Amino acid sequence: MCICVDCHWVDRCQAYHAVERQHGVDHLCVAPSFVPQSPRIHVSVIELGDAQVGVEWDVRGCDSFEAEPGRWLQLRPGQAQPT
Ligand code: SF4
Repeated sequence: MCICVDCHWVDRCQAYHAVERQHGVDHLCVAPSFVPQSPRIHVSVIELGDAQVGVEWDVRGCDSFEAEPGRWLQLRPGQAQPT
């Protein structure tokens, strides 16, 4: 689980923007300006079936994390939250 979905900075953060790009999802912000301090990104290889694999990126730690539970869902009400 990416901690960014509950972070105050999620819609302005350059690291989360990169995670969105890796996941191939729509960006919350086209040109984020916030540079986070020491985001720690966990990369895992996942099976997709039919001998296909994918790569998943999740921020698991970050010195700039500022808790705001449900921040991503507030910005995208009714949409499925990234996991
Ligand atoms: S936890 Fe860090 S990387 Fe994730 S949105 Fe917040 S500031 Fe950005």
